[in-house]
Amino acid sequence: MSKAQTAPVRTITPPLSTGEVNFLWWFIQGSLMNAPVREDLRRGWGPCERHTLAVLIVENALRPHYLHGPVILFHDLLKRAVAAYAYAWPLHDLRTRHALTPTRPCHFCAMGLDASTTGDLPHERYLCASDETNLRAFMATTYNGWRSWVCPTCTGAPGGVLCRRHILEAQEAWEHRAFEDEKAKIGRLADRLGRYERAFAVDYQGTDTLEDRAALVAAAGWVAGWGQLWDFWTAGASRERARQSGGNSRCTEAEAPPH
Ligand SMILES: [Zn+2]
Ligand SMILES: [Zn+2]
Repeated sequence: MSKAQTAPVRTITPPLSTGEVNFLWWFIQGSLMNAPVREDLRRGWGPCERHTLAVLIVENALRPHYLHGPVILFHDLLKRAVAAYAYAWPLHDLRTRHALTPTRPCHFCAMGLDASTTGDLPHERYLCASDETNLRAFMATTYNGWRSWVCPTCTGAPGGVLCRRHILEAQEAWEHRAFEDEKAKIGRLADRLGRYERAFAVDYQGTDTLEDRAALVAAAGWVAGWGQLWDFWTAGASRERARQSGGNSRCTEAEAPPH
């Protein structure tokens, strides 16, 4: 294996801090299951763009074959979006806008976690958990399933659909004309992510498709916004690099969190 293939890749800007990595090391496998934390994440409409990307980086670095935690998090939020679109005409836009609007800040930002936060973790652990190689490989493998979800307003990229935040802006500007289309698309995305989540159950292992897995990236971008996720993807010809490496993070999967 060449040196280029094994070198860890880090492009998130600014780099993840030791405090962010230290917190995220156990968060998804532990705190995410706490009811008050889940409720906080629901009301905040998930993490901000940076911390959404951070969750995906760290979980792919540590548990590339077991992304159950992020899938639970974003499926939970997509089900909330499906419910937000369930209001009947004629006031659906107003009610949906209200339901899609966060009433809390990002859970991680609110805890004071940012690029300057320091954490007490071994340097090797930091290097492993912040290695972006596996997320790039995951995004490359599932690209065809999530590309059509990239928000053109967030990224300037052609095609795609508006993310949650830009749907809200379009509504405020009275430019929102695609309610039924969005409702159908979000319903299908939630179904796909639901199939991916189900595939983590013993009896359903192997039943998920690449498109189902791609729903995790699509859901993360739709909920949080695509700015940082798209920058991450486009940084350094990531498709080619991921294809070459096939996802070869130096990390092993993290041990189970203490109960
Ligand atoms: Zn945040
Ligand atoms: Zn957007």
